[in-house]
Amino acid sequence: MNTLIRAVRPWGQALSDILITDGKIAGVEPHDPARTAGAAGAQPGDVTVVEGRGRLLVPSFSDVHVHLDSTRIGLPFREHTGGPGVWTMMMNDRKNWRNAEVPLQERVNNTLGRMIARGTTRVRSYAQVDVDCRLERFDAVMAAKEQFKDQADVDIIAFPQAGLLLEEGTVPLMDEALKAGANVMGGIDPCSLDRDPARHLDIVFGLAEKYQVPIDIHLHEPGELGVFSTDLVIERTRALGMQGKVTMSHAYQLGSVSEATTRRLIEEFAELDISMASVAPSISGQLPIPLLAEAGVRMGLGEDGQRDYWSPYGNTDMLDRTWQLAFTHGFRKDELIEHALAIATVGGASILDPSATRLKGTAHRPGIEVGDPAELLLLDGETVASAVMDRGGDRTVIHRGKVVADQLELV
Ligand SMILES: [Zn+2]
Repeated sequence: MNTLIRAVRPWGQALSDILITDGKIAGVEPHDPARTAGAAGAQPGDVTVVEGRGRLLVPSFSDVHVHLDSTRIGLPFREHTGGPGVWTMMMNDRKNWRNAEVPLQERVNNTLGRMIARGTTRVRSYAQVDVDCRLERFDAVMAAKEQFKDQADVDIIAFPQAGLLLEEGTVPLMDEALKAGANVMGGIDPCSLDRDPARHLDIVFGLAEKYQVPIDIHLHEPGELGVFSTDLVIERTRALGMQGKVTMSHAYQLGSVSEATTRRLIEEFAELDISMASVAPSISGQLPIPLLAEAGVRMGLGEDGQRDYWSPYGNTDMLDRTWQLAFTHGFRKDELIEHALAIATVGGASILDPSATRLKGTAHRPGIEVGDPAELLLLDGETVASAVMDRGGDRTVIHRGKVVADQLELV
């Protein structure tokens, strides 16, 4: 099965034709108007031709921090009823999530479908596991993963949104979710939620070791407290040989303590290959993106909860979230805006698969070379930076070499 993409500009560069074989990029050639399926060396009928019409070609999005199980995308807008703090917000969600206008499965499927239609083909989703929902939410995300298995790759984090220690019976449920196919172990605010950071993290790392899965720590803790929890994560990553298998999610205040701490954390993240997932929050005090990139720390982007009981933000469009990442970091230079798109695409992909091509700095634009997976997005725009500003809808989404969406609709 071959695909020929005619007349696209990889990362905004010269007009090219792309040949795809067996889900991988097999050729990147200067555009030749005479190039047809037959001329590409294949029998007519063996090759699907995608007309690029001079559009940009970039890697498809990787949403590495999304809560598919809490979404209200597509439902009537609902007044925000959450209060301050993670526990209060969690209880607000717990009170309401079962009473949505349509069943959970429909909501999860609809949200994932819309994400794919807008250009996301790689996903790492949370599935909340606790004594209230048990595996109900996890099962819905698992079913959506199966439903869309030919359109996107979905990883699932078994996520202790309500902590691990506060409610009797949570840990065995986490174990059950991992046994049933969750392929990432989650942790959350080890100090401020469970108030017993060593015990919380020992359970997280213990279950990750038992099921041989990577770890994602959801960290909302501020300043010094966030750094303290992060140091406990660093200590365990080093001691247990978990290099390359730990992601710090949110962790949006690690750069707020001191310059020396910022530098030390970036060095330790690089040394232990700890990655970072951001949802582009408005909060300042984040580790500086250019320094993370220079140090080779893998970074990805996500939409977090989308129009749910936690937040009215998020619309399944990672291009909008890319704009938000650039905006909240004050990026104006084209190189940095384009780097935001690189984070949202190949950056996240290197979190999902540590052996994938990694970003080597803010000017590096990988992902469209011979041998790369054909996870691609055709997008209208003059340049990559202008496409992030304008966020057009003339898009074609390719997963494993096949068109899975066009003009913001699944095909
Ligand atoms: Zn989140």
